[in-house]
Amino acid sequence: MDKISVAIDGPGGAGKSTIAKAIARRFGFIYVDTGAIYRTVGLRVRRVGADPSSAEEVTPLLESMKIEMKYDESGSQRMLLDGEDVSNAIRTPEMSMYASAVSALPEVRAFLLEMQRSMAREHSVIMDGRDIGTVVLPDADVKIFLTAAPEERARRRYLELQARGTECSYEQVLEEMNIRDKNDSERAAAPLKRAEDAIAVDTTDMSLEQSEDAVAEIIEKRIRV
Ligand code: C5P
Repeated sequence: MDKISVAIDGPGGAGKSTIAKAIARRFGFIYVDTGAIYRTVGLRVRRVGADPSSAEEVTPLLESMKIEMKYDESGSQRMLLDGEDVSNAIRTPEMSMYASAVSALPEVRAFLLEMQRSMAREHSVIMDGRDIGTVVLPDADVKIFLTAAPEERARRRYLELQARGTECSYEQVLEEMNIRDKNDSERAAAPLKRAEDAIAVDTTDMSLEQSEDAVAEIIEKRIRV
């Protein structure tokens, strides 16, 4: 096979990014975190004080913002907004909600589509998001839909935020996660849903290692075909 593309979709906290990073290392793919791109748009909208759910307010900002995706020496994806590295600034609960709001706007999705597709044209990728298998890379070689029970996903996200030193309670994380799941699944534009040909993996009772092995096994089987 020439270039390989793996789409990994699912709700927040299912383990997509951690697993995708490990898989990228194991198979020599580039890991593309598409949520980070929506978060970067969200940050710009927040900074100018615009309403993230208003197409009238957000659309004019798109043309004037420069979003770049870079990879550092360790292979980690960095997000640049108008030349500034915002990779850490986009990782707050507030930016999760901003990303969810701007991502429901079809104008924003259309604006970011080509940036994502070009990555898969140029490299072998594992790309994580909500609509990778359905919209961004409908012809991906492998499609995985990663899920886990909401309480478990909130627990993981809570621990991740704690490790970053972000003040929050478990209840708050669970509540925001439920709102985001609902927004992402019920929106009209590219909603979160399993592609018909995606393989579902439920990681609720799996360790990270087990989840990674399960995903690697699916990829190996597909690639060998
Ligand atoms: O994956 P992450 O939690 O960083 O994504 C932040 C938000 O960006 C999601 O809640 C979702 O609304 C949006 N998103 C999206 N499509 C993607 C990736 C993320 O709509 N492909």
